[in-house]
Amino acid sequence: MIFIFFFILGSIWGSFSNVCIIRLPKEQGVAISRSSCPKCKKIIRWYDNIPLISFLILKRKCRNCDFKINFQYFIVELIGASSFCLIYYVYGLSFTTLLLIVLSVFFIIIYFIDLEHYIIPNELTFPLMFLGFIKSFYPSLDPELFPNFVNSLIGGIVGYLIIWTIIFLYKKIRNKEGMGLGDAKLLSAIGFWFGWVSVPIVIFFSSIIALSYVAPTLVTRSRNLSTQIPFGPFIILGSLVYIILGDQIKLLLFSF
Ligand SMILES: [Zn+2]
Repeated sequence: MIFIFFFILGSIWGSFSNVCIIRLPKEQGVAISRSSCPKCKKIIRWYDNIPLISFLILKRKCRNCDFKINFQYFIVELIGASSFCLIYYVYGLSFTTLLLIVLSVFFIIIYFIDLEHYIIPNELTFPLMFLGFIKSFYPSLDPELFPNFVNSLIGGIVGYLIIWTIIFLYKKIRNKEGMGLGDAKLLSAIGFWFGWVSVPIVIFFSSIIALSYVAPTLVTRSRNLSTQIPFGPFIILGSLVYIILGDQIKLLLFSF
């Protein structure tokens, strides 16, 4: 029963994430106007705007015209629903679940915006940094996952400085921008959320995933080394590895 609740809640937040993914990069207000069909501009009725279900009933089409709705809407709602369920499954009804649910919504929005537009809006990274820090003052925080506020503050600073240094050196050496300050703010937010230890681990896994993604396209020459790729999605995937396997990784590191 509670799983169904989390599934529905997650799909609704997934639906809200879709609105943010479309509107934030265009600097349009998120809550001002109701959704309308991009082609015929007809306002979408509430019963055609039900997460997941409407997409299946309407078979990807606008009810008024034959406009094909982007498959990404469905994917994002499904990711929202399943991540809410997964978090509840692992952490139950707890403050940790609430925090991770909020984080997952931010992650979904940032992932898809950076993937398409190569930007990470400050409207997302600043609140995420702020939340990551103030949650450290909650008295009975899960100590396995979340750091105390000193560790959180150091994490935030270290996360920002590492990417800032990479950008700075890259500019000096190759006179080009490899990453953006959006990446620095995102990693800073991760540092605030999970403490300084998480920063090098997240960078390590993000780079591994990014390399394994880019390497095949280098071989087929559809890309070259100077082709820009958005790094934000990889930071998010690296963070997921940390959240899921962090304890084991730390145990492994400290056993040496
Ligand atoms: Zn239409």
